[in-house]
Amino acid sequence: MPTIAAISTPAGTGGIAVIRISGEDALKVTDAFCRRFAEGRSVSELAGGRAARVRILDEHGEPLDDGLVTVFRAPASYTGEDTVEISCHGGAYLARAVLRSALASGAVPAGPGEFTKRAFLNGKLSLTQAEAVMRLISAEGRSSAKAALSLLEGSLSASLRKLRERLNDTAAHISAWIDFPEEDVEEVSPEALEETLVYVCGELETLVRGYDRGRLVSDGINAVICGRPNVGKSTLMNLLSGCERSIVASVPGTTRDIVEDSVQLEGYTLRLSDTAGLRETSDEVESIGVERAKRRIEQADLVLAVFEGSEEALREDIELTETLKGGYIAVVNKSDLGQKLSPELFKGAREVVYISAKTGEGFERLREAMLRALELDGLDASAPMLAGERQLCCAKAALDAVREALDALHGGMTLDAIWVCLQSALGSLCELDGLSAEESMIDAVFRDFCVGK
Ligand code: GDP
Repeated sequence: MPTIAAISTPAGTGGIAVIRISGEDALKVTDAFCRRFAEGRSVSELAGGRAARVRILDEHGEPLDDGLVTVFRAPASYTGEDTVEISCHGGAYLARAVLRSALASGAVPAGPGEFTKRAFLNGKLSLTQAEAVMRLISAEGRSSAKAALSLLEGSLSASLRKLRERLNDTAAHISAWIDFPEEDVEEVSPEALEETLVYVCGELETLVRGYDRGRLVSDGINAVICGRPNVGKSTLMNLLSGCERSIVASVPGTTRDIVEDSVQLEGYTLRLSDTAGLRETSDEVESIGVERAKRRIEQADLVLAVFEGSEEALREDIELTETLKGGYIAVVNKSDLGQKLSPELFKGAREVVYISAKTGEGFERLREAMLRALELDGLDASAPMLAGERQLCCAKAALDAVREALDALHGGMTLDAIWVCLQSALGSLCELDGLSAEESMIDAVFRDFCVGK
């Protein structure tokens, strides 16, 4: 495999920039354009885990910068190959110039995620751990970072390994019993077989069931604020996001389209969209907004329906509750102006919270209601969780196969039939963690990475 190089720090100016070189020739490449200050010594003489100051030369051999090289020797490196990290001063030009020197000295540019892909191919990380690296980099909140770190530490890999071992032992026992009838192989007891299948089935069901909550933790929560014009949606959005984001004005229909913002709720990322009012309108632009708002509501993880508490219900309020049917949080706003709205209106709501978006009164109750509605209170973000559709698909396929094996057992089918189901479940579990994955699937996982990771 060729030796690869890339800038691993973000573009722009900063204190330092890091250029990473990995592969069989990483040390040779670095020797070609980095001179140690220690007279007569080369970078390739450094032991693994050691750093040294160097003068960095450009592609024509002219001095470019002074920096620091750190050497990691195979297999004790992130990629499992010889790796050198060069820290230079963090100017955009300098980092690119150092990379050019590395390329002129024999390295080739790394593709997106190629360092992590090599770590996976060299057995340093499982596929779910490699995916966790990307999730950790892109985590926006405390809980998503915690979930990604737990994935990176291998919590999911460990629990998958346990399931594979149980299925493997059982499948091996069945094969031995079928293939060597003359040998003294212990009979496969239906009770023990059932116990294993029920156990694996239960574990997989927990993983699949937990996916949606895991998705909320790692990808963030899609929340929609809806309600007729002028009830205080934009003011509520501003209160939640702590800044002036959408236009607040007392002319109905001001918030014409969807305004989005991300805020943190107990370490979870809440992606808020403040929608256009849902009223019937002859204004073409506004009616497009209304349609989009309705679509958002259908896809949302959390819906906050805002009503004005100081007025009696209007036709649009009633229509909104009918559109939403149930499952939303009714936010009765403007509590500072007194209460006229009948609670009859939100019979379908899962919670009703009285607040004043203007003064902030009742905000704490709203926050608690939101956490309850999302069932995130008490969630352990470090428990094994599936992250991403790819992992979910594999887990579901494994679950289907185990359920089929159970049906076969209960239906009195032969052990051969059960063995086939077990193999299929094992195949899906191996694919989940990249043990038997096809190259195209692995490429798809790493395509979304940034270059330099
Ligand atoms: P939207 O059309 O639903 O987004 O409503 P806005 O957030 O633009 O608010 C409409 C008007 O109601 C503005 O003049 C706000 O200042 C006012 N308003 C919003 N929330 C409150 C509240 O809790 N109490 C009072 N008294 N006025 C509010």
